[in-house]
Amino acid sequence: MITLNYDNNKKSITIPTKIFINNEWVDSIDCNENFSLINPTNEECLGIIGLGGRKDVDRAVEAARSAIRGKWSTMAPLDRGILLNKLADKLEEKREQMATIESINVGKPIGESLVYDLKQSITFLRYFAGWADKITGRTIPISSSSDTSTPTRQVLAYTKQVPLGVCALILPWNFPLQLLMFKLAPALAAGNTVIIKPSEFTPLSTFYLAELIKEVGFPPGVVNVVCGLGSVVGDAMSSHMKINKIGFTGSTKVGKMVQNSATNSNLKHCSLELGGKSPIIIFNDVEDLDLAVIHSFHGLFWNAGQCCSAASRIYVQSGIYDQFVEKIKKQVESRVLGDPLSKDTHQGPQVNKFQFESILRYIETGKREGATLVCGGKRFGNKGYYIEPTVFSNVTDVMTIAREEIFGPVMSILRFETVQEAIDRANDSEFGLVGAVFTKDINKSIIVSDQVQSGLVWVNSFNIIDPSIPWGGFKSSGKGRDASEYCLSVWTETKTTVLDVKL
Ligand code: NAD
Repeated sequence: MITLNYDNNKKSITIPTKIFINNEWVDSIDCNENFSLINPTNEECLGIIGLGGRKDVDRAVEAARSAIRGKWSTMAPLDRGILLNKLADKLEEKREQMATIESINVGKPIGESLVYDLKQSITFLRYFAGWADKITGRTIPISSSSDTSTPTRQVLAYTKQVPLGVCALILPWNFPLQLLMFKLAPALAAGNTVIIKPSEFTPLSTFYLAELIKEVGFPPGVVNVVCGLGSVVGDAMSSHMKINKIGFTGSTKVGKMVQNSATNSNLKHCSLELGGKSPIIIFNDVEDLDLAVIHSFHGLFWNAGQCCSAASRIYVQSGIYDQFVEKIKKQVESRVLGDPLSKDTHQGPQVNKFQFESILRYIETGKREGATLVCGGKRFGNKGYYIEPTVFSNVTDVMTIAREEIFGPVMSILRFETVQEAIDRANDSEFGLVGAVFTKDINKSIIVSDQVQSGLVWVNSFNIIDPSIPWGGFKSSGKGRDASEYCLSVWTETKTTVLDVKL
């Protein structure tokens, strides 16, 4: 158990931290290792969790397989939807506790956790609750033969979208609850059972959620949680012969390893939501430059830059370039860094020491390679993993900070002249998650949107994310889609029946 105190020690939340299988908290059967959760605001230990091992994954798989054969498979789809809605109600009720857990564990401002992470998590549950009894198949007309020597046959063919079976959800640390809901809600709506592997750095909201899942009445074994190291528990899942699908969100490097293990074991299904280096293209004819500045600012600095969709390459046309840089600088200077639990805080610390040090190295590389440091550029304070919001201008395409995913509060501003040049340079990246264009010319916005190679392009906006909008990337940013009706195909299999009707 870990107890988190907050509100000047007037309130506390106690969270179970073991392995959750069959709606019970159990000890690991093959891993004696513990993992210290570090508070990113002061580098002190928040609490210790026991890690799971490979045999725990086996146990969770057995529980999830039994649950498929049990009550879960005979439950009416409408009732699965009702259960998902009950979980959404429970999250509403526990909104403050859940947001506090997320803010303490990740270091994100409570304003963001309460308003954004919790709202999105609840909305995803409700949206997919609605889908549970609407995942339907098709009837297929069979063409009759035009050859008169062959008698016409009466054939009925129909498809159903059936659950895949046991799905493992492997998750990152930047939006632990929200990104879990991107996968958990559709996976359950479609009738699968799941084993969740939260990031070992940020498992607390997942543990707390497991308690709520039990409380609202999900049958045992439908949702299981095994937290452990990626190289142990994550690998055991990807290579497991009895897991039918991996839903992975994380880095491109690990995503490729997961995909390989999934293929080389039992060729299990695998959908991947991976890294990004997303461009925003702002033209001289932008209707409202201040709006473009605000979207670029939040697009990059939101969650301290720890977003897969971070707008880390801002291409600004030369006519408004200097003005844009000046306005961004002003925005950055108004940013308040501090305690994530304070309502006044805009930016908390980076999640852990590894990320903190990696981002500071990128900043040094940016300076060394000749980018102009507009503001920020160093650690903030002398305790905790805080980094000043940092802006570089005069960044060129070959610089490391313009090519690699930094995953921190570091903005690169690049200058361009023509439409085609902006498109070609935006596409000169291994990634293709999201992008945006700011212009008042509708034709230009459509051309850019069509030609920028990414899963989603916003026009005169950024980060409009909704359960009804497909989420996922082109190129090394991933495979498959989370969210929306489109994701139902990655959580189901198409089963076809063909009946030869005898007259
Ligand atoms: P990560 O790849 O290091 O870890 C993700 C998960 O994979 C963790 O649970 C980790 O324990 C596990 N893992 C590590 N090694 C593994 C292995 N060998 N086999 C199986 N699992 C293993 O990523 P992270 O640092 O937690 O998150 C940041 C990354 O996630 C960034 O690259 C970011 O862009 C990406 N991300 C993408 C999206 C998206 O929607 N496209 C959303 C959020 C984050």
